[in-house]
Amino acid sequence: MTDPEGPGLILRARWLVPVAGRALAGGWLRLDRGRVTEIGQGPPPGPALDLGDVVLIPGLVNAHTHLEFSLVDRPLPADGGLPGWIGHLVALRRGAAVDPQAHGRAVMAGLVESLAAGVTALGEIATALHPGGPAITPRLRLYREVLGLGPAALPRARAALGPSMAPDSVLRDAPRIHPGISPHAPYSVAGPLGLHLVAAARRRRLPVAMHLAEAVDEARLVDHAAGPFRALLEGLGAWPDPPPALLPAADWITLLARAPRGLVVHATFLAEAGHGALERLARHRHRLAVAVCPRTARLLSGTLPPVARLRTCGVRIAIGTDSRGSAPDLDPRAECRALVDAGLVSPAEALAMATVHAAWGIGLERVCGRLAPGRPADVAVIATGPIPTPLSSIRRRRSWPPSSAGTWPTARCPADRAGAGLRAGSWRSGSRSPPRRRSPRGVP
Ligand SMILES: [Zn+2]
Repeated sequence: MTDPEGPGLILRARWLVPVAGRALAGGWLRLDRGRVTEIGQGPPPGPALDLGDVVLIPGLVNAHTHLEFSLVDRPLPADGGLPGWIGHLVALRRGAAVDPQAHGRAVMAGLVESLAAGVTALGEIATALHPGGPAITPRLRLYREVLGLGPAALPRARAALGPSMAPDSVLRDAPRIHPGISPHAPYSVAGPLGLHLVAAARRRRLPVAMHLAEAVDEARLVDHAAGPFRALLEGLGAWPDPPPALLPAADWITLLARAPRGLVVHATFLAEAGHGALERLARHRHRLAVAVCPRTARLLSGTLPPVARLRTCGVRIAIGTDSRGSAPDLDPRAECRALVDAGLVSPAEALAMATVHAAWGIGLERVCGRLAPGRPADVAVIATGPIPTPLSSIRRRRSWPPSSAGTWPTARCPADRAGAGLRAGSWRSGSRSPPRRRSPRGVP
């Protein structure tokens, strides 16, 4: 005999914003075995855990981070623009290398901060293996970062992308970590190395991410081997002789589109990069998304991302925070607010950028980014306060205090435990994880 009230746990809230559909006042979700099984509005069909004056949304997705800098107190000096800032960052990284434990501590701090901000998935650029395993939330698309301008870069890259990058072994050991590859930027990766990296990504069915057109001077280096990036690289001893073959942003876009999924990070000066870069982005919008990091762009370039221009390309635009080296925190909602307050996007658009578009951009659209029957129970709970609609609250700096987020894989979660979990932000209560289906294209 079946249970007349139905299986699973019903959560009710003042607002449910599934992103996959319209916002529901007094909405409810039924969760069972790690999946959303039902969504509705009004009186729930059985006993429900009423969460009160909160908004239920899909877990936020931060499309671009460098968690190794999560213990940096405040953004590094930006008076020299991106090249000057990189100089400070390199000095910081070289200092941190003295303490082998520092990297792991910073990454863990970033994961904890992200979870408290309602983030359940990140597109993380990794320079070393991350700590942790299956118990760690949020979920990570872990792009292995590779740099190199000289002839020694290729063998180094082969070693860096060795067997540990193979999807099967990584996913077996840590099912919440999904590998990817990141050629760093046009000023730090020579063309032949880029070809090798993208070929590896294509062969292994891995997504890629790359910083492109972050600074206006990037094109001066690529086109004329001149400008502040040349001075920076020479100062770091990274400019080879003979000079490297560098690719313009437009060629990188074509190259990245060979991978099963690609994320162009920043794109602040893509229109100025020439060679028809914007047109190529439009052509490859079915493979590529753009991650913008508004507060970082404002700090390093004095401008916000060219959202309107990117929108005309038809490309999905995702939100990222970048690192605490260039942003004061790891909160995607703060990045959304920067765009909303400037009138560049609506609150609803901003929420889509921080959920469904970001999930697609990092190739995790099957597991996060929206709530609908049959989808994973990847939920964030956001406190509202006395606000009339959930989407307008994204504009209000103080209206959304730190929230809790996580997947909810439980079939029957006792109410007291669920309540405690809401505050602790960890809802993995030992029940069965949802079944994981393999993507036919290798992008889970
Ligand atoms: Zn970055």
